[in-house]
Amino acid sequence: MLWPFELHRSYHRRNDIHARFGGQQQGGISTPADAPGIFIFTGHGAGHVGYQDVFEADGSFRYTGQGQLGDMRMISGNRAIRDHVQNGKDLLLFQQTKKGGPVRFEGLYVCGGWEMEQQPDMNGQPRQAIVFTLVPQNGLSVEAEDLAAGAPPDLPLAELRKRAFQAALASNEASPRVALASVMARSKAVRDYVLARAAGLCEACRNPAPFLTRTGRPYLEAHHIHKMSDGGPDHPASIAALCPNCHREAHFGKDQLTLKSELLEWVRKIEI
Ligand SMILES: [Zn+2]
Ligand SMILES: [Zn+2]
Repeated sequence: MLWPFELHRSYHRRNDIHARFGGQQQGGISTPADAPGIFIFTGHGAGHVGYQDVFEADGSFRYTGQGQLGDMRMISGNRAIRDHVQNGKDLLLFQQTKKGGPVRFEGLYVCGGWEMEQQPDMNGQPRQAIVFTLVPQNGLSVEAEDLAAGAPPDLPLAELRKRAFQAALASNEASPRVALASVMARSKAVRDYVLARAAGLCEACRNPAPFLTRTGRPYLEAHHIHKMSDGGPDHPASIAALCPNCHREAHFGKDQLTLKSELLEWVRKIEI
């Protein structure tokens, strides 16, 4: 399955988002318990204090976290954004342009990092706010990575694995502004490792990759087992290397839940 939202299309927040997937109907950060995503709302009237939210030139988005008064803390919605990669959740960004109006889907994002910044609270008092750098996931798609990535580094599997685990946890610590490029590098580190781990065999059907790429690598695709979307960094125990057939089946097949639990069992045996 994939998310049923089209880029830049407008949706009714309650009917189209929460009625279908759950999550808090008010506030800037909505964390449904049973859906593999976190809904983020920005803009006028979205019940969100972040009037300082801003899109940067490289397409990344500075998003002010949750908390109306006093210093913000890394709890609830803020924590959910910070930890979304390791929790297997997608970040879906919606913008409200008019109070009470529809929300526009701005796409899938990845939390690249966060920092504390002085901003006024609801009463105009200065306080420390959590500001996330969210980078657009479309710059991190499998195709974009293949074009940009070139050959994987020629390193032992253990070293690739170490880099992948570091990449998966990189957004936990506060850090100054993070660029799209560094999140792409994290994403590539996880992907390089998972493809090396698979050693040319699909991790679902165990058949050899259907062809070699121009750089001579067995062609397999990185699939995020929990998330509905692919692309972006993830925990190596949540990604499988699949042949194109098994990959389509994982998203669209009638037995996708069975396939999902088999994949989880397989990667957990290796990684945990
Ligand atoms: Zn397969
Ligand atoms: Zn996939």
